[in-house]
Amino acid sequence: MQAKNALVTGAAGFLGYHLCSRLLKEGYAVFGVDDICTGLNSNAEELKKKGVEFVKSDVSNDWDQWATSLPSSFDLVFHFASPASPPLYQKMQLKTLAVNSLGLYRALEFATSHKARLVFASTSEVYGSPQVSPQPESYWGNTNSFGARSCYDEAKRFGEALIYSYNQEKNTRHGLVRIFNTYGPNMNPNDGRVIINFLVQLKEGKPLTIHGDGKQTRSFCYVDDLIEGIYRYALKTDLAYPINLGNDKEFTILALAQEIQKLSPKKIEIEFTDRPVDDPPLRNPDLSLAKGILDWSPKVPLLEGLKKILETL
Ligand code: UDP
Repeated sequence: MQAKNALVTGAAGFLGYHLCSRLLKEGYAVFGVDDICTGLNSNAEELKKKGVEFVKSDVSNDWDQWATSLPSSFDLVFHFASPASPPLYQKMQLKTLAVNSLGLYRALEFATSHKARLVFASTSEVYGSPQVSPQPESYWGNTNSFGARSCYDEAKRFGEALIYSYNQEKNTRHGLVRIFNTYGPNMNPNDGRVIINFLVQLKEGKPLTIHGDGKQTRSFCYVDDLIEGIYRYALKTDLAYPINLGNDKEFTILALAQEIQKLSPKKIEIEFTDRPVDDPPLRNPDLSLAKGILDWSPKVPLLEGLKKILETL
């Protein structure tokens, strides 16, 4: 039987690492690429040990340097390369814009010429500061095209538009998933997103830094649940439109901090700090499509997921 080939951009990142691991388990020959601007060398090293062919390269530009030596046909391409945490994408704004536009275009060309289905990591950030809750895929969003988060929000929105138009003009069926806040092992401890920040603070016995009053909400999905949803979308369907994936149990950031306090044998303080510019007040996925079409829903409760990641820190 011919080998099944999969290419993952952003392989050394948090989601890329878990996606590669899952594809290996499913019997794929996995090729990973990442310039490790926000991912982890240790993720790349672990993947290499497991059998992933890994290349360190910037997928916004340098495909010619390595892609020509890859097999001539692929089943799947996942374009997951991108800074994803607000503090990191704000430090790498042009890179973030490039990888979700130039990088995605190159990945689409690669996938199409190698007869593969591409799945793009879009995000709940396309909904911006939502005026409806929960957010269904049909909601057009409320984003600021000229501000602190626009390099990420608008880059991902451009990526969605690129896939739409590419499919229309080239008669392809590439897909995309809208990923809501996700957490788990193998995140960069310096990533800056709330769960990993709080857990690192807990581990170091430092106060948990809540931005603002902590009344803003998010919903948190454990990474294994998310990867299952992505896998079903990519493999079990040929959908060419977005589906929300995440957890629909909504927490205030204050409630999250209180859950994390429960994990510590000693008292951990909370410190209230400034709220970042344009920080959305709420976010919660409407999962009707994922539940109906993919027969998927998240399983891991927050406290259980937090314990799993804490064991690895
Ligand atoms: N946040 C916080 N303390 C932190 C990091 C984040 O209170 O140390 C807040 C952040 O302002 C936002 C929420 O937690 O309201 C989720 O932030 P995160 O960076 O994880 O992702 P986002 O959903 O904003 O992309």
